[in-house]
Amino acid sequence: ATGSSAPPTRARAVVDLAAVRANVRALRDRAPRSELMAVVKSDGYGHGAVPCACAAREAGASWLATATPQEALALRAAGDTGRMLCWLWTPGGPWGEAIAADIDVSVSGMWALREAVEAVRTGGRPARVQLKIDTGLGRNGCAPDDWLELVGAARAAEAEGVLAVTGVWSHFACADEPGHPSIAAQLAVFRDAVAAAERAGLAPEVRHMANSPATLTLPESHFDLVRPGIAVYGVSPSPEIGQPADFGLRPAMTLAADIAQVKRVPAGHGVSYGHHYVTPGETTLALVPVGYADGIPRHASGSGPVLVGGKWRTVAGRVAMDQFVVDLGGDTAEVGDEAVLFGPGDRGEPTAEDWARAAGTIAYEIVTRIGQRVPRVYV
Ligand code: PLP
Repeated sequence: ATGSSAPPTRARAVVDLAAVRANVRALRDRAPRSELMAVVKSDGYGHGAVPCACAAREAGASWLATATPQEALALRAAGDTGRMLCWLWTPGGPWGEAIAADIDVSVSGMWALREAVEAVRTGGRPARVQLKIDTGLGRNGCAPDDWLELVGAARAAEAEGVLAVTGVWSHFACADEPGHPSIAAQLAVFRDAVAAAERAGLAPEVRHMANSPATLTLPESHFDLVRPGIAVYGVSPSPEIGQPADFGLRPAMTLAADIAQVKRVPAGHGVSYGHHYVTPGETTLALVPVGYADGIPRHASGSGPVLVGGKWRTVAGRVAMDQFVVDLGGDTAEVGDEAVLFGPGDRGEPTAEDWARAAGTIAYEIVTRIGQRVPRVYV
């Protein structure tokens, strides 16, 4: 994170940590019998991993999760001492460091189990290992056909005192599409996998599957622990699931920039690279000093919404690397006036979901890609 106490300049992503705390509490209320693991990978979905992790802990997240071990180690270096899981391993990864830092490591296959065991044998403390099964996502996770082999090997290592299997877990493919037939199918495979692990002698502390949409809409998936990411930041996983406010969630990030130039131009003036926008009449253009290098999607050229002077404007022409233009029509603005790209929406500004629609993507990508050149300002 690039948390900054310097005065905001040019552009800023204001992150409301009280919203993060309230979102975690709302999610805990949705899954009252389960622990909550807040997913803070990818720099807390662009919001800043460390401040969001602290806020999530304060609101009762008993676990944190990251994709890479490096992300988890960075949280430890920042002082977090609670339970933590990371799952995206590649051969030769920092098993020893993660295990020494008391991070639960996820294992999706035999090579990973071997590397974890090897790290312990070469001088580490016993590892805490969570076994991940691919119940149908078709991505990371042990194939069901290989599950018994992995479980058996993990049990043998446990009996030797090299590791403890602390979790069995999986991830949904289509939880953001309520009623999708894969949801029930994945739950059935998961239950079988847990039962097989228990028959083999494992006694995991936590069994978990539920990402944000499942936490919000699928109580039968909550098991011992829910594992939401996007909802922690107050963003809905999909329009099919609903709006954040439907679940008592509040978007935490507001992205705003100070207008850097205002100018009057005649009719027929081409705007930005390629002249894909041509002013329909004499008008006022305002320059918004953020661009695709800051994570503003170039696919939102001609469509991204921005609140300026109380009205929604649209990106005129192409989003450039560092800036884009909006047409103020009959209105005007001052240099230094605020342009709000997205926020919670309750001051009339667009939301990350509006930008996702404008760019043909998902709100996850909008918030996560806000670049490191944009300071995060915590309120
Ligand atoms: N669990 C895993 C394995 C993930 O990869 C992710 C994010 O992609 C999450 C949980 C959190 O998902 P969401 O942000 O939809 O809550």
